[in-house]
Amino acid sequence: MAVKPPWSKLHSRTRRRGAVLLAIASIAIPAAVVPAASASANYCDGSPAASGSTYGKPWISGSTPAIKGRPLCDTTVTPNIHTGQDWDKNPPHFNLYSPNNGIVLERFTDDCMGKTLVLKFGDGNRAAYGHMSSVVPHVGDSITKGDFVGETGNTSCYGSGFPDHLHYSMFSTGWNGWASTHFYEPRGFLGSHGVTWVGSE
Ligand SMILES: [Zn+2]
Repeated sequence: MAVKPPWSKLHSRTRRRGAVLLAIASIAIPAAVVPAASASANYCDGSPAASGSTYGKPWISGSTPAIKGRPLCDTTVTPNIHTGQDWDKNPPHFNLYSPNNGIVLERFTDDCMGKTLVLKFGDGNRAAYGHMSSVVPHVGDSITKGDFVGETGNTSCYGSGFPDHLHYSMFSTGWNGWASTHFYEPRGFLGSHGVTWVGSE
C-alpha cells in the first residue's frame, strides 16, 4: 500500500471542512421560520413530581380570588400559550404565600411576565409567580409553608391597562424561563394535594 505524504492528509482534511461548511450554509434556516423569543415558545407538557406532599393555597386561607380565566395551555389566543392559572381579587395587591416548604430558586423581572418569583419545594415540585408588585424573599432563602412572599401586581410588557392579578404556574423540572419551562396545570395539582377550592377560586 502506498504511503500518502503528510500534505495529502492535510489537503483532504481541508477539503472535508470546506464541504461541511458548505453543507451548513445550504441547510441554514430562513429567518422567517426561526421562532421569535416570545411567549409562543411556552409549553405545558410537564408533569408533577410523583411524591407530591400536602399543599396550601398561594394566598391566605379564607380569601377568595376569582379565577380570572386563561387556564393552562390556553391556545385560543394563537400563538400565546398560557403557562399557569390567573386569579384576581378586589382590592388588588393581595398577599401571596408559599404553599409548601422549600427554597427560592429565582427572583427577577421578566420583560412580559414582570416581577417573577420561583420556588422549589421539598417534594420536587416548583412554582412560579408572575406579574407581582413586590417580592419579599431572595434567591437561596429557605421558605416555610405559609410564608408571606409578596403581593400581586400588574408588572408586564402589556402596558398600564394590564390588570392586577396572580399568574401562578407549577412545574417539576429545571427552570428555563417563562418561555421554555415544562409547566403542568396547577389548580388540579393543588386540588389533589390538600387544597379545597371555595366558590370561584
Ligand atoms: Zn397568566
